[in-house]
Amino acid sequence: MEAVDPVCGMKVDPSKAKYKSVYKGNIYYFCSIHCMKAFEKDPEYYLKYGPIGMPK
Ligand SMILES: [Zn+2]
Repeated sequence: MEAVDPVCGMKVDPSKAKYKSVYKGNIYYFCSIHCMKAFEKDPEYYLKYGPIGMPK
């Protein structure tokens, strides 16, 4: 099974993912702590608009 990082759009292997976040009952996986922090800061934005690339 594969997950997609909702921030940058990269594919993430959930069994190896170090960074994850639970939002409204769903688990999201991230490629890096930067993506995780960006998501946690404004989850609705990424769920609404989709991946926008790596955060700066
Ligand atoms: Zn990412």
